[in-house]
Amino acid sequence: MSVIQPKSSKEAGGSFLFQPLGRRPIFTPEQFSDEHKLMYQTARDFCVNEVLPHVAELEAKSSDLMVRLVKRAGQLGLLANDVPEAYGGLGGDKVTSMLLAEATALNASWSATVMAHNGIGTLPIVYFGTREQKEKYLPKLANAEWLGAYALTEPGSGSDALAAKCRALLSPDGKHYLLTGTKQFITNGAWADVFIVFAQLDGKFTAFIVEKKFPGVSCGPEEHKLGLHGSSTCALILENAEVPVENVLGDVGRGHKIAFNILNVGRWKLGAGSVGGAKELLSKAVAYAQERKQFGKAIVEMGAIRKKLARTAANLYAVESMCYRVAGLTDERIALVEPSDPSYDRKVIEAIEEFNVEASILKVAGSEMLAQAADELLQVWGGYGFLEEYPAARVYRDNRINRIFEGTNEVNRLLVPGTLLKRAVAGILPLMTAFAEAQKSDHEGNDDRAAVESSKRATVFTLGTLVGHYMQSISDEQELLEALADAIIGCFALDSAFARAGEDENLLTLARAFAAETRPRLFESLRTALGAPAESRRRPGDAGPLPVPGAAVGRHRAA
Ligand SMILES: Cc1cc2nc3c(=O)[nH]c(=O)nc-3n(C[C@H](O)[C@H](O)[C@H](O)COP(=O)(O)OP(=O)(O)OC[C@H]3O[C@@H](n4cnc5c(N)ncnc54)[C@H](O)[C@@H]3O)c2cc1C
Repeated sequence: MSVIQPKSSKEAGGSFLFQPLGRRPIFTPEQFSDEHKLMYQTARDFCVNEVLPHVAELEAKSSDLMVRLVKRAGQLGLLANDVPEAYGGLGGDKVTSMLLAEATALNASWSATVMAHNGIGTLPIVYFGTREQKEKYLPKLANAEWLGAYALTEPGSGSDALAAKCRALLSPDGKHYLLTGTKQFITNGAWADVFIVFAQLDGKFTAFIVEKKFPGVSCGPEEHKLGLHGSSTCALILENAEVPVENVLGDVGRGHKIAFNILNVGRWKLGAGSVGGAKELLSKAVAYAQERKQFGKAIVEMGAIRKKLARTAANLYAVESMCYRVAGLTDERIALVEPSDPSYDRKVIEAIEEFNVEASILKVAGSEMLAQAADELLQVWGGYGFLEEYPAARVYRDNRINRIFEGTNEVNRLLVPGTLLKRAVAGILPLMTAFAEAQKSDHEGNDDRAAVESSKRATVFTLGTLVGHYMQSISDEQELLEALADAIIGCFALDSAFARAGEDENLLTLARAFAAETRPRLFESLRTALGAPAESRRRPGDAGPLPVPGAAVGRHRAA
């Protein structure tokens, strides 16, 4: 594929699909600074020493131990990375945020609690709060004197979050908004002091900062969940809850900007958390497989077991490569914002938003990598894997929610091609130029680079072909968009895995193992997108025939 310059000198989100492999160096775990490593180690040590020994007590919820642990972590500065120094935080970079997400994920209940507090519960104020709101709330959230939560979902509106029914009315004296409604599934619901709540104000979707102690605020009972038994999940009930008018967060009617941009951060942290969870389980599975003997030898010597370990390692390597690439890109873009700029916070959140396609990719790829790891690695323990006292059972239960919250994987998959296409229409991404190139290009060798480039070219070719065929109505073709999303996710993963590996033989082994499974699946997804579903729905008068799958995508062969 020839070099197509992005519109600006900054890296545009989504450009991985259009740029040749390695055109720009990417940030990789091999570049972590000593400070990065220290933060990671401190957060990990806290989890190992303070959290893991007490998991049974945390899961029984027989005490307020989880709250005390969050507060202790807050006092140690482990929860303040994303809060600016001016408000009691550390003002750290996003690579550190990812590392902290990884380190907390040794226990999923701990991770969910911490992420709801210092991620979705605090960041809306960091990026959208007024100076007064930041001064009042951020220092107390940064050191966990107060716990935070995020209340978007309602009983009638989950994925369709903007259809929320919770309403806000101005009080007769004009001093308060009176919020009425129920928010469902709120992580930290029983423990939080401060909630970011979304409600309709005169039909305009708006965010509010709501304190637990405001009159009219209460919580429902704890939900009984499949997993995450140590976290709190309950409804937030608002009955004419009195919220001071100065607690509107951001602009009236602009709540969607807050809701969705904050979820982007949650999505890439979930990707990093999945890496942390899978690494821990993999190292335990390897140790067990070395020790467990059957038929006179350690099971780690058996090909069927080695395959599971190797597949997990390869998938983990790819997701980890994507995570730190995105963190690096985001940090690079944030570094371009002048700290004295009065619109600094808005520009930082715009820098984060730039990589929203990548955020959805990390969420889907991370959660599904961990799901596969939990399932396959449980098998390494055989019957013991099914017992609670061995490590795989908890991960098996706990990881399931990752495919549901922070936007379901269905919704995130649809966002991947949907957002890329919007960016192409806006002239940010050169889809049509790349499509024309993809039609002309043929194989350019048989090496790793050629394999990645042909995967991307075939994906661009398919995307362009389907857009040409369906035009606007492509947004109704969900099965096709999901298949396209899988191919695009595969492209980002392959590109990141090989860009990170460079000439390093060990990393190349991982990248090649990943590619060996991913590329055939990627081409299968493209054939699905171009093939049968579209054929079966074609009606007389529709646009002309799509290319024959084997001919179009077969030109860029999988193997
Ligand atoms: C343990 C836990 C913790 C949570 N924490 C929080 C929290 O802290 N704050 C908060 O606000 N929420 C939280 N949630 C809520 C979570 O974000 C929602 O459950 C999630 O967004 C899905 O909404 P829903 O459950 O209403 O499912 P629905 O939206 O009803 O979806 C049902 C199914 O339909 C699919 N679907 C829906 N729309 C589409 C579409 N357009 N195209 C294709 N498929 C679609 C979904 O993918 C899903 O498979 C939590 C949930 C749980 C279980």
